[in-house]
Amino acid sequence: MRYAIISDIHSNLEALNAVLSYLKTNPVDSIISCGDITGFGPEPHECIEKLRALPNFRSVEGNHDAALCGKINPDDFNEDSLYSLEANKLLVTPDDVKYLKSLPESISENDTLFVHGSPRKRLTEYLFMMDKFRLNMSSFNESVCFIGHTHHPLIYQFNLANGSDSFINIEEESEMYTLSEGKKYIINAGSVGQPRDGRASACMVFFDSKTRTVNFKRIAYDTGAVQEKMRKLKMPEGLINRLASGF
Ligand code: ZN
Repeated sequence: MRYAIISDIHSNLEALNAVLSYLKTNPVDSIISCGDITGFGPEPHECIEKLRALPNFRSVEGNHDAALCGKINPDDFNEDSLYSLEANKLLVTPDDVKYLKSLPESISENDTLFVHGSPRKRLTEYLFMMDKFRLNMSSFNESVCFIGHTHHPLIYQFNLANGSDSFINIEEESEMYTLSEGKKYIINAGSVGQPRDGRASACMVFFDSKTRTVNFKRIAYDTGAVQEKMRKLKMPEGLINRLASGF
């Protein structure tokens, strides 16, 4: 099965359109979102509508999606996140809310797990440091787990024989990584709609479960157009500015 994994779209229709038009010319069997379709950006409804119309699309829930549909309380949300949550609530339809409520916590198939935060705390844990990744290794049985949530694309590898682990440097976006037997992996798909790794372009990852190959892809889009829509909705400047800087 050839997958495109997209994550953290965050109501950014311009970025989503750029990714989907790339996928039109580079089709896959299955498109999976690791959550946070909504929050932060100006067009949650348009993003949900666009994704639901795709025949081969599925998503797990993200913390912003769960807060928007009332599944969780946004206790750990900062001021900007809370503002965008309230703004997003006014921009979705009852049917969108129903759809967000229906999203599963995880998807598991072809020896691959898809979640938003981490294998052990699927909705909320942020995986940045190596020791946190290590602590998650016993929380899933599949050999590969795709996550989102931090908006930082990366590959973490864990050797089952001796417990050694490391991050694989993602240097060239075109580079193809082949996953090894005897290792488990957590791969962060980065963010489509609000990258935070210093690059403004939308991030996605391709995975072939048969050949066990992974490659990342960055796609430039019109950040100015999204920023304009956010200004019209009087969204926080910090959220608007970070789209151009990628931080
Ligand atoms: Zn997010």
